[in-house]
Amino acid sequence: MKMLITGGCGFIGSNFIRNILKKYPDYHIINLDKLTYAGNSDNLKDIENNPNYTFVKGDICDIDVVSKVMQDVDQVVHFAAESHVDRSIEDGSIFVKTNVLGTNTLLQSALNNNVERFIHISTDEVYGSVKEGSFAETDDLKPSSPYSSSKAGSDLLAMSYHSTYGLPVTITRCTNNFGPYQYPEKLIPLFITNLMEGKQVPIYGTGLNVRDWIHVGDHCSGIDFVRKNGNIGEVYNIGGGSELTNLEITRRILEILGKDETMIRYVEDRKGHDFRYSLDCTKLKKMGWKPEYDFETALSNTIKWYVENRWWWEPLKQ
Ligand code: NAD
Repeated sequence: MKMLITGGCGFIGSNFIRNILKKYPDYHIINLDKLTYAGNSDNLKDIENNPNYTFVKGDICDIDVVSKVMQDVDQVVHFAAESHVDRSIEDGSIFVKTNVLGTNTLLQSALNNNVERFIHISTDEVYGSVKEGSFAETDDLKPSSPYSSSKAGSDLLAMSYHSTYGLPVTITRCTNNFGPYQYPEKLIPLFITNLMEGKQVPIYGTGLNVRDWIHVGDHCSGIDFVRKNGNIGEVYNIGGGSELTNLEITRRILEILGKDETMIRYVEDRKGHDFRYSLDCTKLKKMGWKPEYDFETALSNTIKWYVENRWWWEPLKQ
């Protein structure tokens, strides 16, 4: 099996590559990553000498690079994206370029090379916010931020390559991930590392916005399950089943690190801040997949990882 992973030096991609090489030692992985601010070769330091792993520094928008790495590839798992909502609110241009145009370049090349499977990694944010209930795969997309809109655009484009050309596309949409190697601009690693540095943690608005949290290991196992069992031309929601307000998750982090609520600083709410994301994951559960990590244990272990791996995040915060 020759598998092309895009964005493999980011948070989820690096965890996915590590898991795949462990589970399938005979697979050959090619990791195409531009190494933007969010990409970090340290994320895969432990496997960089694995003979079944090849790293290519390059942009998914560059058709020449993409055509070269796509040769003889059996499957594509496409993670590469601009992924931070706040940055997209500052300027959406690079989000449209990478997430929409970059995805189109990959789809075109995958079609030219007759790949047997193209897994497009997406997010719960494409459905938009919901006060009550949960979104199923058949629900309409109502993204609100430039980030989620660019992801929704890439989902539609990916599915259009299936409908129009028969490209074997499958989409996964997952909830908020946490775990090791997450860039410390995202809520959980930002808060842990701020507290370790004796700094306050910024909570948007009232802190009552709700997210469903999943350990990155469960997201990776969900993607692998879909890769093997999912139907072509379909979408699969992947969720952790742990819905918490931002304030609740902050309180848990404070407690584990032995800090009190004076370390919270309430800041002006994010523009267009979605109130709640929630996924109905019945489809995947009926097929036999479920998350394995216990949320409380996974959060404690994640905090422990950042406590023990200052070498990894300190340079990123400077
Ligand atoms: P990340 O920001 O940590 O990593 C993104 C990676 O993509 C980086 O290594 C970066 O260098 C690379 N990249 C960016 N632009 C590129 C380009 N033009 N060419 C090649 N490589 C490029 O993101 P993440 O949190 O690991 O998310 C990975 C994917 O999963 C994204 O598609 C994201 O939308 C999706 N997702 C993330 C979450 C989450 O909670 N983090 C939840 C659901 C879905």
